[in-house]
Amino acid sequence: MAGMPMRRLLLVTVLMVAAPTAINAGGQSSRLLHPQAEAQALDLASRAITVRSVSGPGNQTIKVAELFRDALVAGGFASADISITPVDDTAFMVARWRGSDPALEPLVISGHLDVVEAKAADWQRDPFTPVVENGYLYGRGASDMKFDGALAIAAILEMKRQGFAPRRDIVIEFSGDEETDMKTSAMIAEQFKDADLVVNIDGGGGSLDETTGKPLYFSWQGAEKTYADFELTVTNPGGHSSQPRADSAINQLARALVKIGAYRFTPELNDISRAYFTKAAQYEKPEIAAAMKAFAANPADHSAIETLAADPAHVGQIGTTCVATMVSGGHALNALPQRATANINCRIFPGHKPADILAELSRVIGDAAVQVKDVTEGSVANDASPIRADFVSAVEAAMAVAYPGVPVFPSMASGASDSMWFRHHGVPSYGASPVFIKSSDDFSHGLNERIPISNIAPGITYYLSLLAALAK
Ligand SMILES: [Zn+2]
Repeated sequence: MAGMPMRRLLLVTVLMVAAPTAINAGGQSSRLLHPQAEAQALDLASRAITVRSVSGPGNQTIKVAELFRDALVAGGFASADISITPVDDTAFMVARWRGSDPALEPLVISGHLDVVEAKAADWQRDPFTPVVENGYLYGRGASDMKFDGALAIAAILEMKRQGFAPRRDIVIEFSGDEETDMKTSAMIAEQFKDADLVVNIDGGGGSLDETTGKPLYFSWQGAEKTYADFELTVTNPGGHSSQPRADSAINQLARALVKIGAYRFTPELNDISRAYFTKAAQYEKPEIAAAMKAFAANPADHSAIETLAADPAHVGQIGTTCVATMVSGGHALNALPQRATANINCRIFPGHKPADILAELSRVIGDAAVQVKDVTEGSVANDASPIRADFVSAVEAAMAVAYPGVPVFPSMASGASDSMWFRHHGVPSYGASPVFIKSSDDFSHGLNERIPISNIAPGITYYLSLLAALAK
């Protein structure tokens, strides 16, 4: 191809010429603290990106599992302590580092092997060819989440090299279908429903200033909303369109949709979102910041609710939302409709059961002719994890070593992750990836996905501290 930039280097070249310095997220040069782990993180991430671990025909997810297993075995894990389980067209991996006290419940490090589909024709670079360019690693899975997986494995192997001996078992598990139906995610959570705590390395993370590139803050994810789909159906005897009836499936459905569109669930707050609104306010525009602080102080504050509800970045943080996403009805241009249906997609605030939200929607509709049915697939209700003091102090200490002075606070995600399956069993799960990015660099699931490689050195430092504290 013409116009190949001179600075585009294949990783192999980068690794060969790697000098013993790194650029940290603040832009300053620093000595490599863990050269072996840092080189391994980039190497493993790059090799994982080459594997097309996409759901459907030709799914190679099992090869990512084998790549990670081989790295763990080469780093001292017993082969017998690692299993790869094929499920449908994918597979999941579980590795166990045995602790000295078998009576303790395990610490689980949770990630996933699969990635979202990527069409090479739409990308500037081939999505399955890792490239390092201008300080970024490019490729499908760079940010979600092959780089994260490689970083954690490299850090764990560094702990082994340093002679660390965990008291509790450390389980490293990677699901194989987190991006699609989450069947393996559910199986893994079932297997480890007695875990002490889960660190989900596919959630949370740090934010970099858009202009300076300096770290702004780090937030760990302690809750996420429950995903639900509700199908509305209205049926009618129908008839010839030249002979209209008083009732109409389409009209009844339309009235129901208008009511749902106008309805607002009661705004609410939990410990996680209160801490988030209080601490994250300083990074927002003054009007939003004032609303965040007012809402944290009083979740019934009318003007704060109006401001936050009008902001797409925050409307999902203040309560349950339900919105119509699909509609269909009728069967011929010249017939009265016999059936009209719509899908209402809800993101339920932690602590509510989908059945309660369904009942609330039925009350809002107030028309017995409109049937409401839960058609959700691949999701379970989950509550917020408690703000556990041992986790908070471990994550704050780890950040203080990796990124001194950077504020740390919790957050709630509006999307679903593997944490949901653990929280469903009552196992505390915390999204705590040490990766910092600019929000303008968030191309997860999208085109030209990339990650700053300046995350490697502090990321290793962070994991060494965090995992040592939690596995003690
Ligand atoms: Zn992910």
